[in-house]
Amino acid sequence: MHYIIKPLMLGKMLMNCSLMTYMLNFQKEIWVPIVTWYVKTEDKNVLIDSGASVDIMKKYWYADYEEIMTFEQALDSVDTTPEEIDVVIQTHLHFDHCGNTSKCRNAEVIVQSEELAFSRKPHPLFFGSYLRRGELDEVNFKEVDGDAEVFPGIEVLKVPGHSPGTQAISIQTENANVVLSGFCSIADNFSPPEKFKKLWPVLTPGVHVDALQAFASAKRVKEEADVIIPIHDMEFASKNQIP
Ligand SMILES: [Zn+2]
Repeated sequence: MHYIIKPLMLGKMLMNCSLMTYMLNFQKEIWVPIVTWYVKTEDKNVLIDSGASVDIMKKYWYADYEEIMTFEQALDSVDTTPEEIDVVIQTHLHFDHCGNTSKCRNAEVIVQSEELAFSRKPHPLFFGSYLRRGELDEVNFKEVDGDAEVFPGIEVLKVPGHSPGTQAISIQTENANVVLSGFCSIADNFSPPEKFKKLWPVLTPGVHVDALQAFASAKRVKEEADVIIPIHDMEFASKNQIP
């Protein structure tokens, strides 16, 4: 089975680039996309993350935002509705990645056990990164531990560090193993400036619970993927479909 990935960009958020690239780019402001990624399997509607509306994000993070479309409009563009989503694969549970998940009332939601446990009792340092208590109570979670195949040709890879249970998603397309990074990152994370390259083949995600793990996980994604989709990269998020 070969898949096509459709990025559905719900909005944009202005942020300091160092939140993506640890120890670098403190002077740079960038717009990052808030995305839900749609994949159609043989008989199921699958989303990777559900994104979040600007209204939700404003409750958690002070920034400039631009709304592009609602979750319902985004799904309508691929001829589906929140109720018709069968599976949501959560890269992790930071608010910008799961703000619409509870709208997918009939979906099974695949998440790493460690991420779910942490989200229910976040460390104070990351309290503001997770949805308030109760927001995901109605969600039908299916927990996984480590790497797992979820459909033929779609695999979750545990890549901790950004959050305790971040997972990347490996998807077999017609001619490549495409990997959605899972951790919040942009293209620069995977192509560091020339002078750093030897020591740092990847740039560590700026937000992390464990910088060393986050570095190792970024390295793993770079080594295993033919094509990497950094999940906050504007270029990929703007595409109509991949490939
Ligand atoms: Zn993010």
